[in-house]
Amino acid sequence: MHGPPRHAMIRNSSLILLRRTVTKPHSESARRSGARRALLSGALLLFVIIDAMKSGFPYPAVHISYRLHIRIHKDIQIVAGALGSCNFTAGDYAYTGSARRNLAARIKRHLSASKTLHWHIDYLLADPNVEIIGVDTSSTPECQWNQQLSGGIPVSGFGASDCRKRCGAHLKSLPP
Ligand SMILES: [Zn+2]
Repeated sequence: MHGPPRHAMIRNSSLILLRRTVTKPHSESARRSGARRALLSGALLLFVIIDAMKSGFPYPAVHISYRLHIRIHKDIQIVAGALGSCNFTAGDYAYTGSARRNLAARIKRHLSASKTLHWHIDYLLADPNVEIIGVDTSSTPECQWNQQLSGGIPVSGFGASDCRKRCGAHLKSLPP
């Protein structure tokens, strides 16, 4: 055949041209939204990296220290093993310790009522007027973390048999 008439071809090509000019802003906005997505995912990645760095990137922060928040409901006297007789007034206390191998098991042991009394803190927690009201953990070494906590020393040397940083005690009395 002779193919389409010439004017039809022109009309077709101008249609194509028209389609191009119409689609151009669309592809421009697609390009922009693609750039926006890239920027967003870049920002998200940066946020994730910063967050990871805050928690000890590239290794996750390992919590080795724990703190028991203790409430003594009334004035008591206990015998804490070799430390002997200790007096405690009613109030809030904090005991800071560490367990390099199994922190969860150590905390569970402190919370358990049936155990062989071994550490000073075991004797205190065995008293019916003493209650653990909260537990915290930290990646800060125990002595450093203990020294960061302001509080009094109710019994010198309490919980500090293994302390090499001169904490005085690992049990502190907290201000009311
Ligand atoms: Zn210490």
